[in-house]
Amino acid sequence: MKKMYEGRIIYDKNCSLPVYDHVEVLVCGGGPSGVAAAETSARRGRKTLVLERHGFLGGAAVAGYSGTICGLFFCSNHPESDMPRQAVFGWADRFYRQMKKRGHVTLPQLYGKTWLVPFDPQGWKETAEDMLIASGAKILYHVSILGVIMDGDEFLGVVIDTKQGLAQIRADMLIDATGDADLIYRAGLPYTLGDGGDIQNPTMIFRLGNVDIDAFLSFWGVDTISPDAVGDLMLRARAEKGYSLPRLKVWVYPTNRPHELFMNVTAITGLDGRSLNALDPEDHSEAERAARQQVREYAAFFKEYIPGCQNSFVEDLSADVGVRQTRSIVGIDRLKDEDVAEGRKRTDGIAACPWPIELHNGEKPFMHWLINDYYEVPYGALVPVRGEHIICAGRNISAEHKAMASCRVTAQCFGYGQAAAIACDMALSQNRRLREIPGESVRQELNREGAGLDI
Ligand SMILES: Cc1cc2nc3c(=O)[nH]c(=O)nc-3n(C[C@H](O)[C@H](O)[C@H](O)COP(=O)(O)OP(=O)(O)OC[C@H]3O[C@@H](n4cnc5c(N)ncnc54)[C@H](O)[C@@H]3O)c2cc1C
Repeated sequence: MKKMYEGRIIYDKNCSLPVYDHVEVLVCGGGPSGVAAAETSARRGRKTLVLERHGFLGGAAVAGYSGTICGLFFCSNHPESDMPRQAVFGWADRFYRQMKKRGHVTLPQLYGKTWLVPFDPQGWKETAEDMLIASGAKILYHVSILGVIMDGDEFLGVVIDTKQGLAQIRADMLIDATGDADLIYRAGLPYTLGDGGDIQNPTMIFRLGNVDIDAFLSFWGVDTISPDAVGDLMLRARAEKGYSLPRLKVWVYPTNRPHELFMNVTAITGLDGRSLNALDPEDHSEAERAARQQVREYAAFFKEYIPGCQNSFVEDLSADVGVRQTRSIVGIDRLKDEDVAEGRKRTDGIAACPWPIELHNGEKPFMHWLINDYYEVPYGALVPVRGEHIICAGRNISAEHKAMASCRVTAQCFGYGQAAAIACDMALSQNRRLREIPGESVRQELNREGAGLDI
């Protein structure tokens, strides 16, 4: 990363900017983890505000069209004959049920040795927003979190950038659900970046319209992960016609709209082939440009080579290129690669995860499946090693590189948000520091709310 930017933006406790509000719990970021955190916090009676730079909720799930809820079901060695078996409940299940009730999801679809649930992004936005409003949480859209207000290691609030200028928001507890650990970074606290700076590639997801779904499925099969024949066709298209198709294993899902496919097929690198770091605005800009070019290539390839897609067209692209990975905090505990590979359970586990390691880098994502098993994420992975009144939720929790390639998916992000909000509520009512709250107590409370962690 180039050194031309100043990362730390700290205002002291006497900050004199206009005070927009003082809340008990301030949720920074309205992606999956922020939505679950804000709803849980407000439902528990805390004055809660969520800040979001977009004009809608959903983060990478909606602005990045991630398009499916992953992480709900166990993996199986016989997925063609087994029925999906749900492993994760709590907030993820509440949201899933709401989405089902409103007709915004398809039935679970096969994905290798497990299942996922494609959803309608518009339905995601509305469902999340309705749940938040019903809980009493307030949402502030179109604000960017610019800096943090600190007294030593204590977080006192944030400074926001709006079209009207700067303002401060004071909070008793803060939840960093920015995906990028922006609050931790602004405060100058430690974080890690992938495997020594090596992070997973971004993907631009798009929707392909006017597909003959029956013809497509009779070629592709029911598994949303492409059969080997597709990789062979891509190699042929590269050799015969010079198509630029860097990713040979791709994920494609029929949606709940007629004749439509959700296309998770691109693997974005720089125009010169280098890996891109979305924290760098130059790299991030190049990712958007390179992504649009790659979408054209894959769409043309599908039209020319894949049965059922002859008359297809690109309906739309996600608003933002999808960023899988940036900063991970250094927590008082850390989810390790081996915890995931070995399915480690823990008394202080606050979220269960049956999702495989799904590491996107290069031609074929690396997959490691947990058959009929799951692991648990410890409470301490949400609590930064330094900083008071702050907790993290979502894809910025403390996890090693391969572990992050599993624990970052939506059902688990919902779980981290719910756990973070419960911990804030406990810290406030018990007048304790977040780092003093036992993970076991958060787990107990999650189970009281239906998380089913002791199944
Ligand atoms: C290409 C791609 C495909 C994926 N596919 C799947 C899939 O099929 N199924 C699945 O379950 N998961 C998938 N994921 C993963 C999943 O979408 C993410 O891990 C999840 O969205 C992370 O949630 P989060 O709340 O931690 O962060 P995010 O979703 O990144 O949300 C963070 C939110 O904070 C806001 N924000 C950030 N910084 C600021 C700031 N400074 N000021 C104000 N607001 C800010 C952002 O606008 C955003 O809304 C995919 C991810 C990508 C990138």
